[in-house]
Amino acid sequence: MDETRESLEFDVLFVGGGPANLAGAIHLMNMAQKAGREIEVCLIEKAESIGSHSLSGAILDPVALQELMPDYLEKGCPIEQPKCSDEFYYLTSTGKFRLPYTPAYMHNSGCHIISLSKYCVWLGEMAEELGVNVFPGFAGTEVLYEPDSNRVIGVRTGDKGIDKDGNKRPNFEPGVDLMAKITVFGEGPQGSLLREIGKKLGIFEDKMPQVFETAIKEVIEIPESSPFNASATTVVHSFGYPLGFDTKGGGFLYKMKNNRVSVGFVVGLEYEDPLFEPYQAFLSFKKHLLIADIIQGGKVLQQGAKTLAAGGLYTMPQLAVDGALFVGDSASMLNVQRLKGIHTGMKSGMLAAETVLTAIEKDDFSAGTLKAYPQKIENSWIHAELKAARNFGQALSQKGFSKFITLGAQYLSGGRGFTDPLPIVDDGSTLHKLTAPPAEIKGEDVDNTLYLDKLTGVYLSGTKHEEDQPCHLVIPDRNLCVNECYETYRMPCTRFCPGQVYEMEQDPDGARRLKLNPSNCLHCKTCEIKDPYKNILWTCPEGGGGPKYSIV
Ligand SMILES: Cc1cc2nc3c(=O)[nH]c(=O)nc-3n(C[C@H](O)[C@H](O)[C@H](O)COP(=O)(O)OP(=O)(O)OC[C@H]3O[C@@H](n4cnc5c(N)ncnc54)[C@H](O)[C@@H]3O)c2cc1C
Repeated sequence: MDETRESLEFDVLFVGGGPANLAGAIHLMNMAQKAGREIEVCLIEKAESIGSHSLSGAILDPVALQELMPDYLEKGCPIEQPKCSDEFYYLTSTGKFRLPYTPAYMHNSGCHIISLSKYCVWLGEMAEELGVNVFPGFAGTEVLYEPDSNRVIGVRTGDKGIDKDGNKRPNFEPGVDLMAKITVFGEGPQGSLLREIGKKLGIFEDKMPQVFETAIKEVIEIPESSPFNASATTVVHSFGYPLGFDTKGGGFLYKMKNNRVSVGFVVGLEYEDPLFEPYQAFLSFKKHLLIADIIQGGKVLQQGAKTLAAGGLYTMPQLAVDGALFVGDSASMLNVQRLKGIHTGMKSGMLAAETVLTAIEKDDFSAGTLKAYPQKIENSWIHAELKAARNFGQALSQKGFSKFITLGAQYLSGGRGFTDPLPIVDDGSTLHKLTAPPAEIKGEDVDNTLYLDKLTGVYLSGTKHEEDQPCHLVIPDRNLCVNECYETYRMPCTRFCPGQVYEMEQDPDGARRLKLNPSNCLHCKTCEIKDPYKNILWTCPEGGGGPKYSIV
C-alpha cells in the first residue's frame, strides 16, 4: 500500500449516490436510531455534488418513498407535478395516433413528476442530517478484498492530481481506502466496480447478458403562452417514429413546473444498424409534430444522457457476497415495462439496509447472513413487478408485428407469454456488418437553441473534467478501431456516443486515427456496452468530473 494513503473505517459504505443507495442509507440510519445503535456510515459519489450525475425521466412511483418517509410531502420532497395524466401515441413520420387503450403498466395515476437530480439532492441532505458521512467528488476505483480471500472489505477511491502521463501533479492527493464491514454497491447501470467484482466473484455467471437502453434527454423552457401549460396533459409517451417497428425504443415528454418540459428519447442498445445514431433519433423525435408543437418557441436549458439497465429479472446478478450487497440499476432492478427504476432501486436499498442492520447486530458479514437480502427481494413487491415484466424487453426486441402478439400473450399470462424465458442477446453483438460503403447521411438541422448539436448539448450538461489526467476510456487496441471496426461498421462509436467523445481523423495520405475527447464524457457508458469488439473499458475519471445536472 502507498505509505501516504489514508485509511478510514466505517461500519457501512455505500458506493454511489443515486436513489437506491440514498434510500438505503436513510433507512439504515432511521432504523439504527430507533434501535438505539450508533453506526458509522459513509456514502461516496463520483459527481462533484449529490444529484449532479442523476438523470432520469422522471415519473416517480412513490411506493418506496411512502414506506421510507410517509410524510415526504411535509418534508419538502421536490415535486414538479403532483399528478400524472397519460397520453400514449404511435407515431409515423407525419402522423400521430393516440392509442384508445393504454396498457395498465403504462398508467401513472398516483405517481409524481420529478427531476431526479433535485430529488437526489433532497435525499442527500436528509441522509446527511441523519449522520451519514456523504462524500461527493470521490470515485470508487478499486474494490478492496481481505488478503487471500474473496471477502469485500471496502473500496479505494481514485487518486487525484495525476497527469496525462501518469505523473503526480503538484496538487496530487492519493485516494483513500474506505474500509467497511459491509459495502453496498449502487453504481447505477454498468457499474465499473461491479464489472470487476463480476470478473473476480462471478456474480453474473449463469445469468442472461446485461442489456441496456440509452437515453438522451433535455429540460426545455417553453413560452409562458404555450397552450400546453394550460392543458391537463402531463405525461406523453410514444413509440414508432423515428425508429419504426423493428428497433426498440420510444419518446417521452413530461410537464414540469415553471413552463418547463422534460423531453427524452430512449433506444434499446440491441439495435442492428451500425449507421444508426441515437442522438439523431432524439432530434427527429423532437421535430415530430407531436413534440414540436409543444416545444416551439422554447429553449433547451439542460441536456444529458444516460443508460438504463433494461434486462430485468433474468439478468439480475447474485445480490450478496461476503461483505457486499448490490442494489438498484447496478443489480438490474429496473422495471423496463414501466420505464421505472427509482422506486425499485429505493426499495432494494431499503431491503439491503435491513439486512445490513441484522448483520451488524449479529456481527456476521458473511454471505451466509447477507443472503437474507436476496430473500427479502424475492418476497417483496420488487420481485412481483419484475416477474410480470420478465420477458417484456425481449418481446419488444422481436421484429415486425409478431412482437405485438407476444406482448399480448405476456399481458394475458402475467408476463409468461409463449416462451419463458425468452432469450436475451448481448448488446455488443447485434450490429450488422456493412456490405457496401454507406451513403452520406445528413443529420437533422440544428439551431443550437431548441435543436442542439452534440457539443452544445455537452456544454448544457455542464460537463467538465480535469484535462490533464490519464484517459478514463481505456482502449487497448486503437488500430482495431480505425482498421477492422472502420471497415466493418464505420466506427459506430462516433455515432452512438451522445457526447462526441469519439472522432475519426484522416490524414491527407488517407491514414486514419482515433481522436478521443474524454472531457466530453457524459458518463452514460454506452460506449463500453455497444462497442462490437469490447475494446472500450469505461473507468471512473478523477472524482468530481463529469456532468453537472441540476434540473434533469
Ligand atoms: C432517460 C431516463 C428516463 C428514466 N425515467 C424513469 C422514470 O420516469 N421513472 C423511474 O422510476 N425511473 C426512470 N429511469 C430509471 C431511473 O433513473 C433509474 O432506475 C434509477 O436512477 C436507478 O437508481 P440507482 O441509484 O440504482 O442508480 P443511479 O441513479 O444511476 O445512481 C448511481 C450513482 O452512483 C454514482 N457512481 C457510479 N459509479 C460510482 C463509483 N465507482 N464511485 C462513486 N460513485 C459512483 C453515479 O454517479 C450515480 O450518481 C429513467 C432513466 C433514464 C436514463
